[in-house]
Amino acid sequence: MGFFNWLANGLGTLIGVVTDVVSTVVDTVRTVYESFVGKGGAVKDVAVEEARHKQDRLREVNDEIMHLRHRGMSRGGLSDQERKRWHDLREEREELLGKLHQVKEVKAAEKILDSEGVLEKVEVDLETTHVLQYNAFADTLGKTCKCGRPMKLQWQRDLNVAGPRDFFWACTGWYVPMGEGRACTRREPLQRSDYALMTDTSAPEFSVTAEEFGVILEDPGTAKIITSRVNDLRSDLASKKQGVELATCPVHGQNMVLRKKSNPTGLLDAYFLACPHWQPNGQGCSFIEKLKSGSQLAALLKAETGRGIL
Ligand SMILES: [Zn+2]
Ligand SMILES: [Zn+2]
Repeated sequence: MGFFNWLANGLGTLIGVVTDVVSTVVDTVRTVYESFVGKGGAVKDVAVEEARHKQDRLREVNDEIMHLRHRGMSRGGLSDQERKRWHDLREEREELLGKLHQVKEVKAAEKILDSEGVLEKVEVDLETTHVLQYNAFADTLGKTCKCGRPMKLQWQRDLNVAGPRDFFWACTGWYVPMGEGRACTRREPLQRSDYALMTDTSAPEFSVTAEEFGVILEDPGTAKIITSRVNDLRSDLASKKQGVELATCPVHGQNMVLRKKSNPTGLLDAYFLACPHWQPNGQGCSFIEKLKSGSQLAALLKAETGRGIL
């Protein structure tokens, strides 16, 4: 892990900022960022263009891997040549994922430097769990399982308002089928330092407590407005054939697609993010992320449209 001493995400948040003050942390990020940009000579536009090429190539690689997988399943196996091709593609994908991870780190650093003026430290407690939940929407950079896969911040989903101890790290290998089971089922409790965030606290959602925020979401009028905004975003992204920028599938590395359930019981049961290779029949990639909290929806809307839900 090269870029940060802390866990980071594309929302401009760092996790694990315990003792340092904001200005010290931002200075450190700036120094690392400048030496990185200087060293690579990566003028911003070139870097953006390169990242786009890598994303396009990643899509092609994933499509071909999926194609070979379906062929293997329908014919009961692959030829030697096909197996070699499959192996080469998997290697290329690993390399692309590594490079795109670095792009995410650079973007996260830029986001921190851009939002310096509104960054504050938050010690997550009973009243501010929605800040942690908000950040669970985006990929966490730097949190890796013993098996090497990225871990994701999760919590007990059946709770209306989650408490600080309801959160845990879960390996994304849980979504990778292996034999009869799953590739990795590891879970870790949060460390004390995981509750120490440095984040953009200017969002109106953070001026109320987690519980107050929960109550606001129960208002039918509010729920209706949020529903129509998320629906608008969904059709907008679909018409551009785009995924969500800050959340990617840990296996395929592509941006997650915003989807809606066919018969939801309410706002917090209606939406989920799915890998572009996800299929309703269960044949594709199984990586999905349910959007079961107002905080995740707020982060989604803020990241994609510039405005949260309050
Ligand atoms: Zn694992
Ligand atoms: Zn996937």
